[in-house]
Amino acid sequence: MADILQNALTQIDQAIPILEPQYPNREIFQRIIKKLKTVNNLIEGEIEITLDNGKKQKFAAYRSQHNDARGPYKGGLRFHPQVCATEVKALSIWMTWKCAITNLPYGGGKGGIAVDPKTLSQEELQRLARAYVRFLSKNIGPWQDVPAPDVNTNAQIMSWMVDEMIKIKKEEGNLNQNYLATFTGKPLNLGGSQGRDEATGLGGCYVLRSFAKAKQMQPNETKIAVQGFGNVGSWFARHAAKMGFKVVALCDSKTAIYNFEGLDVEKVAAGKKEYGSLAALVEKKIINAQILPATTDLLYLPVDILVPAALENVITAENAAQIKAPIIFEMANGPTTPEAEEILQKNKVLVIPDVLANAGGVSTSYFEWVQNLQGYYWSKTEVLSKLEPLMESSFTDVWQMYTANKNISVRQAAYIIAMKKVIDVMIARGE
Ligand code: GLU
Repeated sequence: MADILQNALTQIDQAIPILEPQYPNREIFQRIIKKLKTVNNLIEGEIEITLDNGKKQKFAAYRSQHNDARGPYKGGLRFHPQVCATEVKALSIWMTWKCAITNLPYGGGKGGIAVDPKTLSQEELQRLARAYVRFLSKNIGPWQDVPAPDVNTNAQIMSWMVDEMIKIKKEEGNLNQNYLATFTGKPLNLGGSQGRDEATGLGGCYVLRSFAKAKQMQPNETKIAVQGFGNVGSWFARHAAKMGFKVVALCDSKTAIYNFEGLDVEKVAAGKKEYGSLAALVEKKIINAQILPATTDLLYLPVDILVPAALENVITAENAAQIKAPIIFEMANGPTTPEAEEILQKNKVLVIPDVLANAGGVSTSYFEWVQNLQGYYWSKTEVLSKLEPLMESSFTDVWQMYTANKNISVRQAAYIIAMKKVIDVMIARGE
C-alpha cells in the first residue's frame, strides 16, 4: 500500500500548473499546497477486544483527517487486512476533493481497522465496532468528523457505532447534540436515509447517463463490464441496466462472468444473494453466461466502458496497455495508478475519475446528516430528486472544465475544480 499515498499526491501535483497562475501570491499558494499534501491529523493506535474463545486480540485502528476548511471531516471506515496509515491518508485526501466537487459542506476523512471481518463472529464484530468508537470518540462528532460505511462495513456496523457514541456521550452527561448525526449510512430505523444503500451506485449511473449524453453514446449500444459486485458494483450494474445500458460482464472476488448479448443483472443480484457466488448461477444455469478463466480477465474484455468498482490499484503500469475499453469509469476509490493513467492517456482511453463518479454515496450521506440535524425525514423520491441534479451538475462542471482546456484529463479537470474550492476557502479563512 506504500504507493497509494504517492498516487494521491501526484494527482495534486498534476493540477498545480493550471491552478498556480490563478493565485498571484505565490507564497500563500505554495503554503496551502504544502498543507494539502499532508493530513491535518492522523489518529492511530491499537484496539483490543475479547474473542468468543475468551482470548484477547489487538487490531490496528486508524482515522485520517485531511482537511476541514469547508466543513467537518467526512468519509468512510473500512475493515480490511490492507488498512494502514498510508491507505487511510490517501483515501481521506480523495474525500476532500469528492466533497468539494459535489459542493458538500465537508472536508475529507477516512479510517478503518486492519482486519478481515470474515474471520470474526457477529458478536466479535460488534465488540470491535464499539471498541473503535471508544478509541475515537474525542475526535468524531456531527460538527467534527462524520464517518460512514466503506469497504466491508455496513448499516449494522454503523448502528453499533452510533449506539456506542451515544452511550459515551450519556456517560459524559453531554447529550446536547444529536449524536445520531455522528455517523451516516445507518439503517432506516436508526436515523438512516432513504436511498443511502444504493446511492453510490445510482449516483454513478446519473453521472454515466450525463456522460453518455455528452459523448452521444446510445445506452443500448454501450457494453459495460463491472469489476466488483459488492454494494457499489451491484447497485451500479443494476441501475445501469435499468437505464438501458448493456451490462455484459460482472465479477465478484472469485468469478467473472460475461455474455455479450447482455446479462440479466436483476437475476444475477437476486441469485448471488440466494446462492452466494456468481459461479453457482452459471453452473446451475440460472443465468445465461460464460465464466472467464480468471477474474482479472474481465479488465481486458473488448467493452465500451470498464467500471472498476472494488479496491484501489487495479489498473497499473503492468496491465494498462492490455485494456481494450476506450473508457474507464471509476466507481472504486483510486483504482487507476498515475503511471497507468499515463499509458491510458497515450492510448486515448478516457478515465472518468472516482472523485466525481462515486460521489453519490457521500452526497446521500450529507442528506442523511441534514435529516438527522433537523429531525425531519424525507421520502426516497425527495432524496433522489436532490441526488440526481447534484450528480448531473457536478458532471457538467467537470465536463465543461475538461472540454474548455486542451490536453488535460478529466481527473485534472475535477481536481482543478475541487482544489480551487478548497484553496479559496483556506484563503478566505486567512491561511
Ligand atoms: N465510503 C464512501 C466513499 O468513499 C462514502 C463516504 C461517506 O458517505 O461519508 O465515498
